[in-house]
Parts: sequence; C-alpha cells; structure tokens
Amino acid sequence: MKLISCPECENQILERMGTICPKCGHTVGYFNESEKRPKYGKFFALSVFLPFLSFLIIIISSINKISFIFGVIFFLYVAYKSCPYLHKELFITKFEGIFFWGVWILVNSLLLSMIYNVLNKLALV
Ligand SMILES: [Zn+2]
Repeated sequence: MKLISCPECENQILERMGTICPKCGHTVGYFNESEKRPKYGKFFALSVFLPFLSFLIIIISSINKISFIFGVIFFLYVAYKSCPYLHKELFITKFEGIFFWGVWILVNSLLLSMIYNVLNKLALV
C-alpha cells in the first residue's frame, strides 16, 4: 500500500480509503485531494453526459443521411474519448474499472443498435 502525507498534519498515512490518521484523526475519503480525483470527477461526469449527448445527436441527425453521418462520427469520437481504456490510471479500485467498462459497453452497444436501426430506416427511404 502506498503512503501519502496526511492533508491535515503531514503525518505519513496509508492512501487507502477509510484510513484514519493516528495523529489528527483525518479520514481518507473517496474524493480526497489526490490530484487524480478532480480528473476522475470530470471523467465520471463526461461518461454520463457525453453518451446522452450522442443519443440526442443520433436522434436529431437521423432526419437525413448526411446529418446522420455526422451524428455517427460524433458518436464514434465520444465512444473513443470516454473509453475506460484511456482513463485506466484514474481508477483506484478494481471495482471502478469494472464499473466503468460495464457502463461504457452497455451505453455504446445501445447507441450502436440505435445507429443500426436508423441505418436500416434510412436505407429504405
Ligand atoms: Zn493527520
């Protein structure tokens, strides 16, 4: 286990969540001041918000083939950018990694099936 200095008193304590500093009683929390955490929060927000945006853009752009191509490009870009593989250094616990991979795979397979349906529809028009 890695040691960090306690943000309150600089005493060396374990980095693990829930560790209580024996000197001052500071508890290491989930969103503690580690420099990874702000990035992590941002990633978390993005991985929820961006697929939603993709969803809206796919719906709006499905009115015709040309705009739909742009919608799909946007989707691919977002899927790539929010891929947990690119952000794996942000995950502290194994659970977080599994969780984000699960969400990513689920959301993107839903969006892909949506794209597939729209493609079928557009091909018929
Ligand atoms: Zn302390």
